[in-house]
Amino acid sequence: MINVDVAIVGGGPAGLAAAIECRNSGCEDILILERDKILGGILNQCIHAGFGLSFYKEELTGPEFAQRQINEMKGLGIRVMTDTMVLSITQEKVITACSTEGLVEIQAKAIILAMGCRERTRGMLRISGTRPSGIYTAGTAQRLVNVAGYMPGKEVVILGSGDIGLIMARRMTLEGAHVQGVYEIMPKSNGLKRNIVQCLDDFGIPLHLNTTAIEIHGKERVIGVTVAKVNQNLQPIEGTEEFIPCDTVLLSVGLIPENELSLGCGIVMDPKTRGPKDYGAFATSVPGIFACGNAHHVYDLVDNVAKDAIKVGRTACEYVRGEVVQ
Ligand SMILES: Cc1cc2nc3c(=O)[nH]c(=O)nc-3n(C[C@H](O)[C@H](O)[C@H](O)COP(=O)(O)OP(=O)(O)OC[C@H]3O[C@@H](n4cnc5c(N)ncnc54)[C@H](O)[C@@H]3O)c2cc1C
Repeated sequence: MINVDVAIVGGGPAGLAAAIECRNSGCEDILILERDKILGGILNQCIHAGFGLSFYKEELTGPEFAQRQINEMKGLGIRVMTDTMVLSITQEKVITACSTEGLVEIQAKAIILAMGCRERTRGMLRISGTRPSGIYTAGTAQRLVNVAGYMPGKEVVILGSGDIGLIMARRMTLEGAHVQGVYEIMPKSNGLKRNIVQCLDDFGIPLHLNTTAIEIHGKERVIGVTVAKVNQNLQPIEGTEEFIPCDTVLLSVGLIPENELSLGCGIVMDPKTRGPKDYGAFATSVPGIFACGNAHHVYDLVDNVAKDAIKVGRTACEYVRGEVVQ
């Protein structure tokens, strides 16, 4: 059994910001557990600029933002275990994880949950049709293109106008694919205005509002999508159906806090955010367990993730010192 004061699950921008502040607040025994081979979380696949404007007062790419945090951490003596997947957490704050050394158990005085979020999938949308290959969440496609170096397809339809979908419309275009359009069921995009201008308008990619996909076609591989306009109740309007040929469908239809560990631990969840219910200052229902970043609720900007995670790192340190009673 490894004993630590504060264990942090997830080494993305939230976990890193919390760890740095926890250390700077006086906590000396901190351990970050990260399932990936490297720290940085989702930022490692976000190679576009636009990060850090309010946090570092500079425009950075995702990997540059992450590297700044990693550099800040150097010399602080924060322990890191990468390649380590946390499998469970108990209310007594015992963590079980699978690492390169096998199964490990960690007893912590406080735990910070910073596992990020996951993307909503086709199954959650209930679009009818067959189940061919060529359907990806936008984040998966982003990782394939930017990290693994694979192109998921050539003729692309994007469903949903979340920021990741808008950014991938531009990315796929820059990599030589043709993006037929972005189809959004709501009357307006929930993406940032700057992303609509810089990722769609600048590349002549059309945004079709009040439009949804009603069927995906193809046996082995996607061959097209039938889209239709929707009425005020978001129901397809008969007679407006249109077949859009494509070999790839990217879904950008929402994010959900990564909550398997929280649920397994019996932490009370918030039905609105789908993350742990906040009992004040990012505390969960279990004393000594805190949540931050997208594991707490889904954020638009990493700058705000880092700012809030700093507060969580400080509170966790105060909890270990007995200065905060939960
Ligand atoms: C695909 C995608 C693209 C995005 N693009 C942008 C963008 O362009 N600009 C922007 O400002 N924001 C973007 N965001 C929002 C982004 O989520 C935040 O900016 C920020 O990365 C959230 O930080 P985080 O630390 O909470 O989560 P993450 O960055 O997701 O980090 C969570 C970390 O926890 C680890 N982890 C999860 N479960 C476990 C476990 N059981 N055991 C061990 N480790 C675990 C993960 O491997 C990951 O490293 C994007 C989000 C997604 C999903």
